[in-house]
Amino acid sequence: MSVTISEQPLAEPSQPKVNLLGLTRAELEAFFVELGEKKFRSQQIMKWVHHFGVDNFDDMKNVGKALKEKLNARAEISAPEVSHFSESKDGTRKWVVKLDSKNSVETVFIPDGNRGTLCVSSQVGCALDCSFCSTGKQGFQRDLTVAEIVAQVWIAHRSFGTPENKGVRHITNVVMMGMGEPLLNFENVINAMELMKDDLGYGIAKKRLTLSTSGVVPKMYELYDRIDVALAVSLHAPNDQLRNELVPINKKYPLSELMKACHAYVDQSSDKRRVTIEYVLLEGVNDNFEQAYELIELLRTLPCKINLIPFNPFPHNPYKKPNGMRVRAFQEVLQKAGFVSPIRTTRGDDIDAACGQLVGLVQDKTKRSERWQAKIETQTVKVRPAQ
Ligand code: SF4
Repeated sequence: MSVTISEQPLAEPSQPKVNLLGLTRAELEAFFVELGEKKFRSQQIMKWVHHFGVDNFDDMKNVGKALKEKLNARAEISAPEVSHFSESKDGTRKWVVKLDSKNSVETVFIPDGNRGTLCVSSQVGCALDCSFCSTGKQGFQRDLTVAEIVAQVWIAHRSFGTPENKGVRHITNVVMMGMGEPLLNFENVINAMELMKDDLGYGIAKKRLTLSTSGVVPKMYELYDRIDVALAVSLHAPNDQLRNELVPINKKYPLSELMKACHAYVDQSSDKRRVTIEYVLLEGVNDNFEQAYELIELLRTLPCKINLIPFNPFPHNPYKKPNGMRVRAFQEVLQKAGFVSPIRTTRGDDIDAACGQLVGLVQDKTKRSERWQAKIETQTVKVRPAQ
């Protein structure tokens, strides 16, 4: 089987260097063959790059001088700069990763007992415009490259002091749930997740590597054919009328099609797989009993878990966070119907790292952020009335 390096051509001495952060195992092997090296030697390099977080070939102790010279001439390990780092009092960490002078994305690490979850961004901004999402309000600039996606894991991994912490795994879970709709940056996200799963990469188990989509239905089917990972769906509404308003991509791929794609995911997996349903609770909008019963009806035959996420407010957004009693009442209805439906506690909100609060810096080519600003200034942002 021939392997092509999809993202970047092999560099000749006069060409830009190949960034090894963005190469899957098969692509790195192909690169080594191009260099006139045995492909298994690439495994050594992968460990140095991803396990030990090394960014300089000269620091790779068991690599010979001749190979180091070749690599220095043709390749690099280059991650974007971190322009800002903060750590919350609850241990949540947030990095602002600067891609260029006008664009940056955010990456968040959430520790929870033995588990450490990294929330990774896939696009600068987002082309979709979910009404409750701060990323959506910033408009869209571009897709991230494989190297830029993987670099977020590499940066977080290094922040725990590699290579000194050999064997200690701080990042046990990765969710493609940061800025952007991952299925709209399909090829790069697939390749990046392959590296995250690879034992020579970050060794994240398939059940602990989650892709979250707002419902790009055709790409959901393609995803199952390409990579075995966990699936989360940002649902947020139990009927088309409300979902069209909150998650506008629903107008293109309505709930009937989305549910079919979710069932297909469960059916094609050999193990007992469940879909994670994400449901942000907005006071008076999607959190009443009637809507809880509608949700039960919609999901009755789908093996799933429903994550209830009380809305995290951000400036100028018209929605409100429901109070704890209202959230628990909604949860109780779902639980009585047999659904596992944990309430996601807000983490990292003192550093704006909570769900739906990631903003980064987006040079918006859609002009959506301008329109949003204009709406704020004229006070025409409306919220659906409580039912
Ligand atoms: S919720 Fe996700 S898909 Fe919707 S606008 Fe925000 S980042 Fe994009």
